[in-house]
Amino acid sequence: MAAEACGNPILAVGSVAFDSIKNPFGEANRVVGGSVTYFSLAASFFTDVRLVAVVGEDFADRGAAVFAGRRVDLAGLQTVPGETFRWKGEYGFDLNQRETIYTKLNVFEQFQPVIPESYRSSPFVFLGNIHPRLQLEVLDQVTAPRLVAADTMNYWIEGTPDELREVLKRVDILIINDSEARELSREANLVKAARVLKTMGPSTVVIKRGEHGVLMTASGDGEFSAAPALPLEEVFDPTGAGDTFAGGFVGYLAGCGDTSDASLARAIIYGSTLASFAVEDFSIDRLLRLTKGEIADRFRHFKRLTHFDEA
Ligand code: AMP
Repeated sequence: MAAEACGNPILAVGSVAFDSIKNPFGEANRVVGGSVTYFSLAASFFTDVRLVAVVGEDFADRGAAVFAGRRVDLAGLQTVPGETFRWKGEYGFDLNQRETIYTKLNVFEQFQPVIPESYRSSPFVFLGNIHPRLQLEVLDQVTAPRLVAADTMNYWIEGTPDELREVLKRVDILIINDSEARELSREANLVKAARVLKTMGPSTVVIKRGEHGVLMTASGDGEFSAAPALPLEEVFDPTGAGDTFAGGFVGYLAGCGDTSDASLARAIIYGSTLASFAVEDFSIDRLLRLTKGEIADRFRHFKRLTHFDEA
């Protein structure tokens, strides 16, 4: 795989969670999830990840079990008295649409991220979906990162818009899904929405469109890149697909250390590749079984899917 070995470490903050998921194919209760969990599993195929999050004592030693043997440093994963973040989502047959049944912040309510000294100079930072106040607290503790990427969701767009605006001013790449891009920009058209979001701070905006692929602004005025999603027959659970995309995307950029437009265009394919695996099983199960060989094969599959010759 082109993105092997080398690599700049990524400091990543986000939720580590117990999820409950219901969809027409089945149900999973109290399974491991969370934005930084999916992100780190995906990104660790490309480079070292320094994870920052909090769990309750009920999480026991699951962190060690999930990340065992992977390039994920857990020195920034705090365990405190109380319950782990809980989220429940329900999907209908259109897996692009989901309803959040509940969000219980639990130990995240009192969480104050303390970035270990050894993490502070991390060249790449990923602010996973979490309270924007926590995203800001992380940014305040790092020294001149080369690239900051961030994700968010409707829960924070609606609940904490001012703090989110502050985050956006300090972000290089915003990775966001289509409905959230529309909500945050107040623009129905995604091309216009991306332009509006750029005026809020990020120099690059990546809009995830579920089974319709990805749209990304490029550095030139008016330029966009796009990638389709792989046509998959086995889609069981789209939970975490967005975070997994972000892990493949930022992981590839940090791993190769190149943030040119050409590299960003490859990164959306790596992000899409990783996300295409995440949806094949419930929770993080498919990512736990994933191999580098499978990633390389599917990356080539994407190339065939998107390649065409001029007449
Ligand atoms: P995605 O499907 O990529 O949007 O991510 C789903 C994951 O995000 C689940 O594993 C949830 O635990 C986590 N999640 C859901 N809501 C929130 C929230 N408000 N803040 C942080 N993480 C969340």
